[in-house]
Amino acid sequence: MEYRKNDLVTLRIEDCGADGEGIGKTDGFTVFVKDAVIGDEVLVKIMKVKKNYGYGRLMEVLVPSMHRVEPRCAFARQCGGCQLQALSYGQQLAFKEKKVRGNLERIGGFRDIPMEPIIGMKEPYRYRNKAQFPVGKSRDGRIITGFYAGRSHTIIENRDCVLGVPQNKEVLDRVIDYMEKNGVEPYDEAAGTGLVRHVLIRYGFFTGELMVCLVVNGKSIPRWRKLVEALLEIPGMASITLNINEKRTNVILGEELRLLWGKDYITDRIGDITYRISPLSFYQVNPVQTQKLYGKALEYAGLTGKETVWDLYCGIGTISLFLARQAAFVRGVEIVPRAIEDARKNAEINGISNVEFFVGKAEEVLPREYEKNQVYADVIVVDPPRKGCEERLLRTIVEMGPERVVYISCDSATLARDLRYLCERGFEVTRCCAVDMFGQGVHVETVCCLKLKEENERADAEILTGEELEIFDRA
Ligand code: SAH
Repeated sequence: MEYRKNDLVTLRIEDCGADGEGIGKTDGFTVFVKDAVIGDEVLVKIMKVKKNYGYGRLMEVLVPSMHRVEPRCAFARQCGGCQLQALSYGQQLAFKEKKVRGNLERIGGFRDIPMEPIIGMKEPYRYRNKAQFPVGKSRDGRIITGFYAGRSHTIIENRDCVLGVPQNKEVLDRVIDYMEKNGVEPYDEAAGTGLVRHVLIRYGFFTGELMVCLVVNGKSIPRWRKLVEALLEIPGMASITLNINEKRTNVILGEELRLLWGKDYITDRIGDITYRISPLSFYQVNPVQTQKLYGKALEYAGLTGKETVWDLYCGIGTISLFLARQAAFVRGVEIVPRAIEDARKNAEINGISNVEFFVGKAEEVLPREYEKNQVYADVIVVDPPRKGCEERLLRTIVEMGPERVVYISCDSATLARDLRYLCERGFEVTRCCAVDMFGQGVHVETVCCLKLKEENERADAEILTGEELEIFDRA
């Protein structure tokens, strides 16, 4: 049977797609339905038709799935922040584990990967230490803040996101009140006019320190003392800054920071290491799960105190410092110069001296250091962005032949591709564990341990080219 736009169909949702959408079938025709969850029987209006599949809008849940739960947030459906709030947390974890396993099998070609049970959160709400709220105007001219709707810049009004800390609302109430009373206009994207673009808030879960950074289209804000006075009513306030962003761009933060009150950073801890976090630095958003993830990475690294370790894509040195406590020496590599400044500072405030940091691309620094200076590694840790590692870096890792590689990944598809490369050249995956850092969202972190296969340990690793490298071009 042929389906057309605006047709109404009844479906049973059998699966969940990579973006959290429900997937159902009717007469061999697959329909993707946002907001439908596995097990639902739904009435769907077909919105878009492709050859063997289409996209439908959820009109009615006819028979709710046994895994369906009431979203805690009233805006869960419109807001682009969460995708899985209507699915029970247990099923969210099952979905994520299956996604990782599926990618390892399909893209990596692995069978029987030794996967440990996914590490979930005790409390999958209120876990985020960071939020960036856009500020704008409603149709009737009120100043509003909240989150963007999915794939748009329409602000869904909400000052109390259930993934964030309750302090967010305290801050936003005061910022909006200050703007209203002092005639401070929100930024208008279309016109490029107005002042306040975003409010960035960070909270140190383990120190209780609170940071507020107002991103503005200008160099200053009028009567700023009024804003500072109001914000100081909130316990824990430690840092109030302005970030200057006068560019007409979607990038949230500009480069220049101005201090209004307190410090231009807050501190937080993971384990017994203290980190200094500036509004501009990358820092994991879920501190409780980060500690578990890094704990796993450390366990997989199997350090005894004698090892030389490379930590590639090291950011502000978060993992490097964690590893340095148990290794002989750690070298970190990161592309953002400011992050490396923070990493060096973090080493200093923790009294850690067995680390060295390099600014540059991992795929350039490691090959260079290996070829020129014959550097050595017992363990290499990589934690790349979503696109994974460059082939040139993986090739150097194969040539160096460390005893262990610990791969931390935020995208299991590129992870699978990179593991395949390493495993075709002498390594094997010995352990693997997914860690949920993003409850109610679709993303999941994975950490893997690779070892040199025994027969390869002393033999020179062979380097393959040509056809086998094509997988990188295709990805
Ligand atoms: N390991 C850190 C950061 C991980 S995020 C932590 O857990 O906090 C990935 C990091 O890789 C970012 O800091 C990003 O700036 C950096 N990065 C991106 N491409 C890179 C490259 N080619 N070489 C080195 N670092 C890179």
